[in-house]
Amino acid sequence: MNTDSNKIIDSFHREHDYLRISLTEKCNLRCMYCMPEEGVSLKENGKYMTAHEIVEIARVFVNLGIKKIRLTGGEPLVRKDVVEIISELAKLPVELAITTNGILVDKYLSLFLDSGLKSINVSLDTLQKNKFKDLTRRNHFDKVMSNIQLLLSNNLHLKLNAVLIKGENDKEILDFVEFTKGRNVHFRFIEFMPFDGNSWDTSKVVSYEDVIQIASNQYGSNLVRLIDKKNDTSKSYKINGYKGTFAVISSVTNPFCDSCNRMRLTADGKIKNCLFSNSEIDLLTPFRNKEKIDILIRQSIWNKKATRAGMNTIQEFSNPVEHSKNRAMISIGG
Ligand code: SAM
Ligand code: SF4
Repeated sequence: MNTDSNKIIDSFHREHDYLRISLTEKCNLRCMYCMPEEGVSLKENGKYMTAHEIVEIARVFVNLGIKKIRLTGGEPLVRKDVVEIISELAKLPVELAITTNGILVDKYLSLFLDSGLKSINVSLDTLQKNKFKDLTRRNHFDKVMSNIQLLLSNNLHLKLNAVLIKGENDKEILDFVEFTKGRNVHFRFIEFMPFDGNSWDTSKVVSYEDVIQIASNQYGSNLVRLIDKKNDTSKSYKINGYKGTFAVISSVTNPFCDSCNRMRLTADGKIKNCLFSNSEIDLLTPFRNKEKIDILIRQSIWNKKATRAGMNTIQEFSNPVEHSKNRAMISIGG
């Protein structure tokens, strides 16, 4: 049983109760901001967690008081044993959620409904078919759009994620906002973040301020700021009279580290205490050796830095040397 003294906390008294598990480093898209053009080299199969190991390692986290698990990747739904993983995780006393590119949603809709999956995030960086192919290097726009419609007609709580990149999709901001007019969706605009191999630089970032300026010019006093929940990573808004809402995740210009409650488990079984940290602790090898891993989990989180893995200023955060020390996003699990 979990007690207060059992909670996972860091040296800044932040309580960690949210785990993001990457199921795979593979993907059926090649998004330019996530995966280097040449791809990432995969490890041999035995280096990745099996379905059973994912569930058992997740159970250790649950015993340490976590309340939510989100499955991510790579593309979590390309794993052949995803049915087993989701069905087993759904039996744990946590809220289960998933982030997907949407391509395989129709194949697994009944699994989502049966497992009581509460929240589904789908990546959608453009509303234009040709642009989708440019951004993702694949041609699955129609499939993703029809699957978004499918989720909406089944009343699943749907968030759409768009990474905004100057010169790529920033002209679509108002189109994305208009998408929320008659649909019960929450559109989240994510500031483009730097990772190994994604050609990031500050000039490509569309900031929180930029988005709100554009929305405010268009909608004036009909643009309404909503109240965010504790641990929310985004700042939410709506347009008066519109069914849906939208938000900005400002990890670059205005990080939300003060209230961070997240931990990440990579597909090869390493715990990362921050998206931007290159320091990882292997949980899978000791787990396979039947050693206790809870102490390693606590140690990883205790060592978490106050802000973005110690990159306190935008200058440090923008340094390409720092980016190349970390993994590509596809191998971390966003
Ligand atoms: N394949 C799934 C998907 O695309 O939703 C899950 C994995 S993906 C790595 C998780 C999230 O990370 C997506 O919403 C994606 O847009 C976001 N992401 C990837 N690279 C990013 C970057 N460089 N900056 C900001 N967000 C990024
Ligand atoms: Fe694949 Fe998601 Fe990365 Fe796109 S963002 S390449 S869909 S893992």
